[in-house]
Amino acid sequence: MKFNTKLLHGSFSPEEKTGATTTPIYQSSSFKHKTAEELENIFLGTEPGFIYTRINNPTVEAFERRIAFLEGGVGAIACSSGMAAVTLAVLNLLKSGEEIVSGSGIFGGTYSLFQCLEDLGITTKYAEDNRIASFEALINEKTRLIFVETIGNPKLDVPDIKKLSELSKSRGIPLIVDNTVTTPYLLKPFQLGADIVIHSTSKYINGSGNSIGGMIIDSGKFKWDFEKFDSLKNYKKFGVFTYLAKLRKGLFKDFGACISPFNAYLSSLGLETLGLRMDRLCDNALKLAKNLQKNEKVISVNYPGLPENQYHDIANAQFGGKFGAILTIRVGSKENAFKVINTLKYAANLANIGDVRTLVIHPASTIYVNNSPLEKEKMGVCEDLIRISVGLEDIEDLEEDFSQALSKI
Ligand SMILES: *Cc1c(COP(=O)(O)O)cnc(C)c1O
Repeated sequence: MKFNTKLLHGSFSPEEKTGATTTPIYQSSSFKHKTAEELENIFLGTEPGFIYTRINNPTVEAFERRIAFLEGGVGAIACSSGMAAVTLAVLNLLKSGEEIVSGSGIFGGTYSLFQCLEDLGITTKYAEDNRIASFEALINEKTRLIFVETIGNPKLDVPDIKKLSELSKSRGIPLIVDNTVTTPYLLKPFQLGADIVIHSTSKYINGSGNSIGGMIIDSGKFKWDFEKFDSLKNYKKFGVFTYLAKLRKGLFKDFGACISPFNAYLSSLGLETLGLRMDRLCDNALKLAKNLQKNEKVISVNYPGLPENQYHDIANAQFGGKFGAILTIRVGSKENAFKVINTLKYAANLANIGDVRTLVIHPASTIYVNNSPLEKEKMGVCEDLIRISVGLEDIEDLEEDFSQALSKI
């Protein structure tokens, strides 16, 4: 079964009772059971069933199953946001005194989270570039995971997931991959050896920018060393579900960062057109990148789809000839960047990515406003940089819009 067919028929069967073609919104906090014995069994995990929407919910579960199926994982846990997913996915493996080794071009919120974790005694070390040797040099006996994004944002650097997974396995630690920007349509990180995949479903999976959400998916294949990851030991009996069982019965349940059934419903609905949207978004992004390269007001265009881009080859090999829908341009100064943003008609100035509409932002004065100049430099955030999340508009209109806005500087 290919991608779009999988999306529509893969892991969903119409509601048995009613024949409804989408899983309805089970807007219920709790679920009633016939006997005390039944509820006891559900709590024990010896019988399937729903308890309380903070723990599980039928609409949310339908969404989880669909994403787990698309990614090829054994299961998934939906969270209230992408940040909740990142937080819970890493904390499920970490204790005070332990370390993360991370790519450096990561999403601002994740970078900020890793800074917050310092207060809990969890340290993050950043590989300076995407070379495997840079990651390898930072791994020590305290390291518990490697964390990367498939295309760094806004640096747009692309790590070699297969090589990183070989490295992480050789050191007995899992590789966690944030696949938000590429989605399972461009990349299935488990096929390249990743162990845990994360999504902010607020972006391309939802697609229309109407719900915040996140997802954690486990490949079920990592061979946990229960000496090293001793907090997983109690969940050993769950076999391939060890990691997810610990998460659902522990941090996920207790942090309370569940997604609402309504948001899960909207995101599930959005997911159905993911393939169609990604095709068009990636095409538009490549066309716009090429068009902006020809504009004399643009100093440089960064997009892995451009043949001269330093990540073109690895992106081409990993993402099946598509390169995502995010690009950045430099326009000479912060003033120029502001002017362009203020003059654009269609591209909306906001902090999001992955919408059906084209979105722009000046990262240096917004998402990264509290970072030091050195941190900004490391994350590729220049003062004259504009990030563009390309939408579904007709490319002629987008090209014309950028050209009129750039002509004003
Ligand atoms: C947006 C984003 C997140 C955080 O997701 P939210 O749903 O906004 O909490 C994490 N990683 C990446 C790559 C993102 O783009």
